[in-house]
Parts: sequence; structure tokens; C-alpha cells
Amino acid sequence: MARAALGRSLLAAGGTLFVIGGGTMALSTVSMAVTKIVVDRSKKHLLVPCSVCEGQKAVTCSVCEGERVLKYVPTEALALPGTKAASSLCACALCEGNGSQTCANCLGEGMTYPDKFSWSSDPCQHANPG
Ligand SMILES: [Zn+2]
Ligand SMILES: [Zn+2]
Repeated sequence: MARAALGRSLLAAGGTLFVIGGGTMALSTVSMAVTKIVVDRSKKHLLVPCSVCEGQKAVTCSVCEGERVLKYVPTEALALPGTKAASSLCACALCEGNGSQTCANCLGEGMTYPDKFSWSSDPCQHANPG
């Protein structure tokens, strides 16, 4: 009878220790996970839609301005003897006739880390954060 009571109390004590230990471990695991999530979130939060392409990942070709073709106008000096300098169209060499090019600001990602200097000094970007 007495032995049984002692055994029970020991068992209870062991169980309590186990629960405390397990709980502490679980708590630290959770807090580590939460910290990781917060860090990941704050990292992601830094990303903003690219202000150059507005998140479109591509911008209108700066050379042909989206026209896809360029006026090819040979100068008289470059024209072959006996031929007239004539204008004709040729596919844009930069965008290869696509009319758009990969955004150089975000490298086609659509998202960028904001440049603190430009954000504080550029009133346009500041007025339209996204
Ligand atoms: Zn961009
Ligand atoms: Zn082009």
C-alpha cells in the first residue's frame, strides 16, 4: 500500500517533469519558428513592386518604343554608290521585334528592394509607393 503510493507520486513527479521539459522544448521550437517567419516576412516586406516596370517584369523597348520595328535610314555616305538612300523598316535589334524588353531594374523579377535613397529623395516614387 505504502509502496504503491510512493510509486504513484514518483510517477506523477516524473510526468510533471516530462510535461515541463516537453513544453519548454515545444515553446522554444515555436518561438524559433515564429522568429523565422517574422524574419522571412520582414525580408519579403522589403520587396516592393518594381517602380520601373510596375511589376510587369518587362518594359516597353526603349529603342523602338514598342513599335517592334525601326526605321532603317541609311545615310547617303553609307548607301551603295548608285543607290538612293531610302528608308525602310527593320525589326528592332534590341527587343528582337517583341516591343518589350526585360526590365533592367528588377531583372525581370517584377519585385525589387526599394532603394532608400531614391525613395526619400524621389517625390514621384514617394507619392506612389505602390
Ligand atoms: Zn522592373
Ligand atoms: Zn525594340
